[in-house]
Amino acid sequence: MVPAENVVGELGRGHVVAFNILNVGRFKLAAGAIGSVQIVLETALKYASERKQFGVALNTFGVIQSKIAEIATRMYLAESVVYRTAGLMENRFQGLDLTVNCSKEAGKALEEYAIECSLNKVLASEVLDFAVDEGVQIHGGYGYIQEYPIERMYRDSRINRLFEGTNEINRLLVPGTLLKRAMTGELPLLEAAKAVSKDLVSAGMSDAEGLAGLNQMTQKAKKLCLMAAGLAAQNLGVKLKDNQYVLTGLAEMVLQVYAMESGVLRAQKVQTLDVSDEHKVFVEKAATLGAFGAFIILEQQAKEVLCAVEKGDSLSTALAGMRKLVRRPTVDMIGMRQEIAKYVIEKGHYPTR
Ligand SMILES: Cc1cc2nc3c(=O)[nH]c(=O)nc-3n(C[C@H](O)[C@H](O)[C@H](O)COP(=O)(O)OP(=O)(O)OC[C@H]3O[C@@H](n4cnc5c(N)ncnc54)[C@H](O)[C@@H]3O)c2cc1C
Repeated sequence: MVPAENVVGELGRGHVVAFNILNVGRFKLAAGAIGSVQIVLETALKYASERKQFGVALNTFGVIQSKIAEIATRMYLAESVVYRTAGLMENRFQGLDLTVNCSKEAGKALEEYAIECSLNKVLASEVLDFAVDEGVQIHGGYGYIQEYPIERMYRDSRINRLFEGTNEINRLLVPGTLLKRAMTGELPLLEAAKAVSKDLVSAGMSDAEGLAGLNQMTQKAKKLCLMAAGLAAQNLGVKLKDNQYVLTGLAEMVLQVYAMESGVLRAQKVQTLDVSDEHKVFVEKAATLGAFGAFIILEQQAKEVLCAVEKGDSLSTALAGMRKLVRRPTVDMIGMRQEIAKYVIEKGHYPTR
C-alpha cells in the first residue's frame, strides 16, 4: 500500500509519469551520447596523429581523414538536434513549476516533446555507434585490444541503441504518435500533406546559395516527408499502423529532416555570433555536408515508401512529384570532407566545444 501523500502524480495516471520519465531519459541519453562522441573523436585523432605507417602519420591518409570528417559532421548534426530540443523544452517549461508533485501541466508539456525525445535518442546513439566503430577502425588491430580505451568505448556504446526503448521501438513511436495526433485533430498533418500535393507544380530547383539554399532544401525535404506520409495514410488507411516497414521508412525521413534542419538553423545562428571566422566556416561546411548526406537517405526512403504504397499510374505521378522535390544543386562533398578533416585534425578535438 502506498500512503496517499506518497502518490506520484494523479491517482490512476501513473503511466503519464512513467512515460514522461522515459521521454526525459531518452533526451538525456542523447546528451550523454554526444559527450561520448567527443571523447571518441579526440581519442581517434590522437592515435591517428601518433601512429605511423609507410613513414607518415595515419592522419595524412585520405581514408582516415574522411572518417574523421564524417564523425565530426554527424556529431555536429546530433549536437544541433540536442541543443535545439533542449531550447524547445526550456521555452515550453517557462513558468511551469516542475517541482510540484508531477503536475498535470508539466506532464502535458513533457508529453508534447515525446517525438523529439525519441528522435534525439535514435540519432545520437547511432552517431555514437558510428563513431566508435570508425574509431576502432582507425586504431586498426590495436582497437580490438583492451589496453586501448577505444575498445571499451566500442563495447559501452552498444547498449545505447537498446535501452530507454530500442531504436526500432523509438522509430515506430515517431510516425505512430504523429498519426495519432493527426487522427485526434491535434495536428493538421493530413491537411498539410494535401497542400503539398497541390503545391508540387511550383516546386522548382533550389536556386539560393549557401545557407539560404540549404534552408530551401530543408523546406523541400519537409514537403517530401509530408507527401510520403500523406500517401501512406491515404492508401493504407488503418492498416498503416501495423505496417512496420512503411512506418520505419517514414520515421527515418522525419529523423533526417529534424537533423538537417537543426544543423542549418544552428549554422545560420552561428554566423551572427561573435566567434572566429574559421569556426563559422566549419559550422557552415558541417551543416552543408550533413544536410546533403541526410537528403540522400531521405530520397531513398521516400522512394521505397512511395513504391510500397502506390501502384501503376498513381505511382508514376507520385515519383514525378518526388523528383521535383529532390532536385537540388550538386556540391563537392569530398572537398568539404577534406576541409572539415583538416580543421578538426589541426584542432585535435571536436571543434565547437
Ligand atoms: C544494461 C541494461 C540496463 C537496463 N536498464 C534499464 C532500466 O534502468 N530500466 C528499465 O526499465 N529497463 C532497463 N533495461 C531494459 C531495456 O530497456 C530493454 O532491454 C529494452 O527496452 C529492450 O527490451 P527487451 O530486452 O525485452 O528486448 P525485446 O523487447 O525482446 O526486443 C528484441 C528485439 O525485437 C524488437 N522488438 C520488440 N518488440 C517489437 C515490436 N513491437 N515491433 C518491432 N520490433 C520489436 C526490438 O527492437 C529488438 O530488436 C536495461 C537493459 C540493459 C541491457
